[in-house]
Amino acid sequence: MSEQQIAVPDAVHALLRRLEQNGFEAWAVGGCVRDLLSGYTPHDWDLCTAATPQEMLQCFAGLQLIETGLQHGTLTVLLEGQPYEVTSYRVDGDYQDGRHPDQVQFVRKIEMDLSRRDFTINAMAWHPARGLLDPFGGQRDLAGGIIRCVGSPRLRFEEDALRILRALRFATVFGFSLEPGTEQAVLDEKEGLRRISPERIREEFFKLLCGAHAVEVLRRYLPVLAVVLPELAPMAGFEQKNPHHDKDVWGHAVAAVAATDPDDLTLRLAALLHDVGKPYCFTEDENGIGHFYGHAAKSAEVAQALLQRLHASGTLCRETVELVRLHDLLPDPQPRWVRRWLARLGPVQLNRLIELKRADVTAQDPAFWADRLDRIAQSRELLSRLMREEGQLSIAKLAVNGEDLLALGVPQGPRIGALLHELLEKVLEGQLANEREPLLATLRQEIETKAEVDPPAFAQKTAYTNMGSE
Ligand code: ATP
Ligand code: MG
Repeated sequence: MSEQQIAVPDAVHALLRRLEQNGFEAWAVGGCVRDLLSGYTPHDWDLCTAATPQEMLQCFAGLQLIETGLQHGTLTVLLEGQPYEVTSYRVDGDYQDGRHPDQVQFVRKIEMDLSRRDFTINAMAWHPARGLLDPFGGQRDLAGGIIRCVGSPRLRFEEDALRILRALRFATVFGFSLEPGTEQAVLDEKEGLRRISPERIREEFFKLLCGAHAVEVLRRYLPVLAVVLPELAPMAGFEQKNPHHDKDVWGHAVAAVAATDPDDLTLRLAALLHDVGKPYCFTEDENGIGHFYGHAAKSAEVAQALLQRLHASGTLCRETVELVRLHDLLPDPQPRWVRRWLARLGPVQLNRLIELKRADVTAQDPAFWADRLDRIAQSRELLSRLMREEGQLSIAKLAVNGEDLLALGVPQGPRIGALLHELLEKVLEGQLANEREPLLATLRQEIETKAEVDPPAFAQKTAYTNMGSE
């Protein structure tokens, strides 16, 4: 078995030994066993045991423990700074709400615990001496690339509808397909997803989107995703009637996702959502050509509402929406352009914006790729060269700072940041040297001439650059 090649952490051995020396059977279980068997290094190790929560507490006395999950049977043990979750064997009581069991019941047999788990590939246990325990054919399904529910798919999805999204998530991450009965139940029970909290949806959906095989799942299961992400639905079948495009809006969005780095969630979300506002902005000219004026701003608005509803973090939301809003900008491989946008966005976001544009272009009709892809590649090259040669100049590295502005009489507040930003842009564009005296002189002039005018918020300042209609 391939588990021999993967080092099982000493901590796992130590925890299993400690439980068993106290008379309680224990196993590694779930995702780590699945990963071990498929040759991936598990990112965490979950253990399960015949010990009840109280017995676990006694067993692990003296270790650093986190007890937050104890009511449901889970104790987190910190060993050398790493958390390990240890859960008492349990079965779930009735699910009245399709979300959580009304109560859990602790049991002494591992097979009962395995039977409450979602998919056969997740319902295996492993022990260093006793080997693999696989009562539901998880190893067979792992080899066959199949996601199959443990027990009746319909009942399992009725108990907890999040499993519907989890089935799709494991399919995208491993490139597996759904066993026909499981697939049918996914489609039949999809409405149950409405009962699931936004946080749980978000976690599974983000993992799904970052799966190496996300594209197949997005293509095949849009009606399922649209139950929780209804914003996506109008893209499907929306013809663009534009010579740049050989796909409908949804086909184009999915192709753009396919062309992005699966490890960059922000970029993947931006690719998925960059044209989500198009169906609201469609016009047809006298030649029958379709246009989508203003769609980048509309898409940004829809993307923001979607991400806020999922309670996505502020940073993820802000960065994704920024990329969507700016996605129509065509990179210009000139130092002036790159420096200006570097000042506005920073290197990570600018790199993503260029990547998004590349993905966007490659998802259009290949007849229009050539010169635009060249420009994009050159801009990316230029960005890395500038970063290599000059490092990144930031506001913190300017030869003047907020104190100087206060001394010049600018009141404390957002105007200070805005003025420093303007200076940074000028320095990056080569209009000013990053030296104290010339910078102070420029500032004095700015303050005198614009004393009465409030600077526009930076976000608004960048919006005007969206001008394309593709
Ligand atoms: P990952 O590699 O993403 O951590 P995982 O399989 O470990 O994948 P977790 O969400 O960490 O997924 O869950 C751990 C285990 O708990 C699963 O392998 C599965 O056995 C069980 N499990 C998790 N969520 C559910 C659920 N909603 N219904 C049934 N079993 C579940
Ligand atoms: Mg896990």
